[in-house]
Amino acid sequence: MIQSIFEAVISAPEKGHLADYIPALANQSKNLFAVYIIDEKGEVLSFGDFKDVLTLQSISKVMSFMVAADHLGIDQVLEKVDVEPTGDPFNSIVRLEVAEKGKPFNPMINAGAITVASLLPGNTVEARVKSVTDFISQVTGREHSVNYKVFQSEMETAYRNRAIANYLKANDYLRGTVEEALETYLQLCSIELTTEDLAKLGLFIATDGLLLTENKNLITRKTARFSKALMMTCGLYNASGKYAATIGIPMKSGVSGGVLCTVQNGQIEHLQGRMGIGVFSPMIDEIGNSVKGMDFLQKISEHYNLSVF
Ligand code: GLN
Repeated sequence: MIQSIFEAVISAPEKGHLADYIPALANQSKNLFAVYIIDEKGEVLSFGDFKDVLTLQSISKVMSFMVAADHLGIDQVLEKVDVEPTGDPFNSIVRLEVAEKGKPFNPMINAGAITVASLLPGNTVEARVKSVTDFISQVTGREHSVNYKVFQSEMETAYRNRAIANYLKANDYLRGTVEEALETYLQLCSIELTTEDLAKLGLFIATDGLLLTENKNLITRKTARFSKALMMTCGLYNASGKYAATIGIPMKSGVSGGVLCTVQNGQIEHLQGRMGIGVFSPMIDEIGNSVKGMDFLQKISEHYNLSVF
């Protein structure tokens, strides 16, 4: 059945557009579509080119939140960023001006993520980025690095993100300089990984931070619980409520077309229990979510009854 869902989605007419506001992403191949699903026993279902490389983009917001929260403790992170959904686009500036004290609403929008990037362990951009790539490597079991072409391309067009960072600095939410926070955030967005890696990260969150391969906890249960709540309420930008209702699992998307999903308990063919799902298809809708990715997730959630609600 899942095979026929994949085939129906891949053969549907192309809709959406590439994230061409980041020049380096405007050249991606439009018709890529990959899926990787892994359960807690290591059983796998995969379709398409799941070893193709993508950049994390906004999915990095979950990883940097986990590293910062575990480094400083959740309470200290919450002094600088709230955990409330906005209903605004991911790169919106408006609330930094009108909300009380201009505090960023949550770590899944750019304002919150730029703040969190500045709180990561280390005193240089390199050290802060490394704290996140090292963390991801522990989960995926392989090295991860920044795609500097994508990073440079974003830096050159980071007008809104730089404006957001300036507001944050003016209101005293950033550690270090505006440029350091911006560079760290955009390097985190440019970390490369595969659909398979996304699924492993999704499983890691489903297990509340237990690294099953080593039977070792990398983050606290509290950090994992906050991350899942943030993904469910804010993970798909200003479509988060709609997808909580129609898919109902914690997810985080990025404008590169990747989606990371975490299933607390379910059964998909011979896979069962806790699962991670990675999907990747670079054509995104006007909100910034992968068109085919979301279509596929909606169909499998319905068919296998994956919603937590
Ligand atoms: N790097 C992108 C940006 O800040 C990430 C956005 C996204 O994936 N939604 O604009």
